[in-house]
Amino acid sequence: MASKIELRQINRNNIYRCIYESGGISRQEIALKTGLSIPTIIQNLSDLEGRNLITADGVFQSTGGRRARVIRCVLDAAYGIGIDITQNHVTIVVVDLSGDIVCGGVREKFPYQDTEHYYDTLAFKLEQLLERNGIDRKKVLGVGISMPCIVDTARNYVTYGRLLGAPADIYKRFASRLPYRVEIFNDANSGGFAETWKSEQENMVFYLMLSNSVGGAIIDRDEIYLGDNFRSSEIGHLKIVPDGAPCYCGQKGCVNAYCSAQLLSDRTDGNLEQFFAKVDEGDPECVQALDTYLDYLAVTVINLRMMLDCGIILGGYVGAYMDRCVEKLRERITKLNPYETDSGFVQPCHYKTEASAVGAGLPFIKKFMMEI
Ligand SMILES: [Zn+2]
Repeated sequence: MASKIELRQINRNNIYRCIYESGGISRQEIALKTGLSIPTIIQNLSDLEGRNLITADGVFQSTGGRRARVIRCVLDAAYGIGIDITQNHVTIVVVDLSGDIVCGGVREKFPYQDTEHYYDTLAFKLEQLLERNGIDRKKVLGVGISMPCIVDTARNYVTYGRLLGAPADIYKRFASRLPYRVEIFNDANSGGFAETWKSEQENMVFYLMLSNSVGGAIIDRDEIYLGDNFRSSEIGHLKIVPDGAPCYCGQKGCVNAYCSAQLLSDRTDGNLEQFFAKVDEGDPECVQALDTYLDYLAVTVINLRMMLDCGIILGGYVGAYMDRCVEKLRERITKLNPYETDSGFVQPCHYKTEASAVGAGLPFIKKFMMEI
């Protein structure tokens, strides 16, 4: 049974969540939704207001009788920072308590190198962003770093970083330069976390990240299934063609070799936007390349569907362009599906290129809210 102190925190947390999810609510509605008494609610509201976590501004439209104040969360009471590092780019974002991007989010060319200069410059870029946007450092809960690596999140340790060339103890390089709490994450897990954060979806989903490497994440109600060795959902190395094309891992026939975004962008000097523009123009080579890509993607997706029987979000670089060809993909998947004639379970992602950065900042927000 919960102690008195625990019970008080549970009540406070329920009240805060109720306000958070509503976007604006009256005292009476909180009482109705939480089942708590008005005196308990008043006491907690005063506590939350004292900590600058909520405001009571404006009034609801009068329906006769006394008008009720609108209680809202102060969304800039704290921030999470996310940095997404890839081989050639970096994206830095600051997110508020709602998960919205306050500033940053621009993908910038900045090739990764394991050098002092790289880490120093990155720390400088972050401080510059905070300075330019007047972000109060005291409100920064932490900095999450997303990378295309297998990360032991319990120890902040890279257990496999071949793609990026990242050292196992890369965490120390960041932690020694950033005056905030630092954590490192796998990029697909971060991307999936961001995609599901605001979704109404209550069921488990699979996030399929189609970037220059292919990754994935199983997310069930804001929890990521990590596996026994933090290698869950590494579907980039799922074999789909026996003795097929070589993968960077040294094996052959991996999904990476058929569904990497590079297979498309390499046709237009690394520019994926240009690739899809050429597809729209009807360029035969690009159209053919996309058709072949969708064939293999359909095989990958149907395998996931058969294994997990859950919704699948297509994210990463290619996912950002999927809204225009998701129907073509669904047709292919339906042909491979022994059970269903509708492939509506496959959805394009919401974010463009910033999902992994946003998702790296969100765990701090989640923790902060749980501890209110
Ligand atoms: Zn592989």
